[in-house]
Amino acid sequence: MQLIDGKVTAAQIKEEIAKAVQNRKEKGLKTPHLAAILVGSDGASMTYVNSKVKACEKVGFNSTLIDLPEDTTEEQLLHEIELLNKDPEIDGFIVQLPLPDAINEQKVLMAINPDKDVDGFHPTNVGKMTLELPTFLPATPFGILELLERYHIETSGKNVVVIGRSHIVGRPMSILLSQKRKAGNATVTLTHSRTKNLKDICLQADIIIVALGIPEFLTGDMVKEGVVIIDVGITRVSDATKKRGYRLAGDVDFETVSKKASYITPVPGGVGPMTIAMLLKNTLLACQ
Ligand code: NAD
Repeated sequence: MQLIDGKVTAAQIKEEIAKAVQNRKEKGLKTPHLAAILVGSDGASMTYVNSKVKACEKVGFNSTLIDLPEDTTEEQLLHEIELLNKDPEIDGFIVQLPLPDAINEQKVLMAINPDKDVDGFHPTNVGKMTLELPTFLPATPFGILELLERYHIETSGKNVVVIGRSHIVGRPMSILLSQKRKAGNATVTLTHSRTKNLKDICLQADIIIVALGIPEFLTGDMVKEGVVIIDVGITRVSDATKKRGYRLAGDVDFETVSKKASYITPVPGGVGPMTIAMLLKNTLLACQ
């Protein structure tokens, strides 16, 4: 079994980005600038946004964090988005999800200028992705493609099972892997909460991408020998032995699945760090 090290791979990508930024600066070209809007004080969201901002500094980007209170109205948020849409200094920006219940997420995502939508969530960009046109790929599936490529994992003609059909991970992942591309050309089965006989389907899989948010859901008896496992799940599970009171759990029962897998991503240190690296890559593309 070989561990797919997202931390090391993300560090390599960030180094490549830092070099590209340095090159731009030497040529007198614009420094990429990413902005992030955070509404409210959800613990996990704050951690994610702060690590995105920190990552920007590390690669030499400029970054702006717009921290809005929990009681921000939809109108106020849309106004902030409009300001970023019009600001020529900002190359790309993200609105950290989830948003408070009173705000319509779809309306917010639609308001972002697709040319600055470095999360790749705007319908225009989702459409371009689906039609294999150049666009910003959503960061998590983009990071998974990058891991598969850099670890030289063959996907062409392979049976890939994606568990979870979310708009940000499962669905785009299933589309991308079925396309004619380097990490692609796979026969993809997209499974979800209504799927019957999931175990039988998983037992046919050469590669399984697990993104459902149920800790240790995929167990050793559900996979065949030699399977490649990409674990996207990150759930905080209470753990009194940890100083912070919780540990991060993936959707895969690492103990039993790793015994049969040829490659597997750990949690933490697998897909998570790649998501941030690919967001930076999209911002660099937006600036270019
Ligand atoms: P989601 O929470 O929006 O949806 C869950 C999906 O799982 C749904 O499509 C549902 O149909 C499916 N599902 C639920 N129960 C199931 C079952 N018993 N069998 C099969 N499918 C089932 O999904 P999401 O936003 O993609 O998040 C999934 C996990 O990935 C979460 O733990 C999240 O924190 C994590 N995540 C990690 C990253 C990262 O950077 N590593 C990025 C995004 C999400």
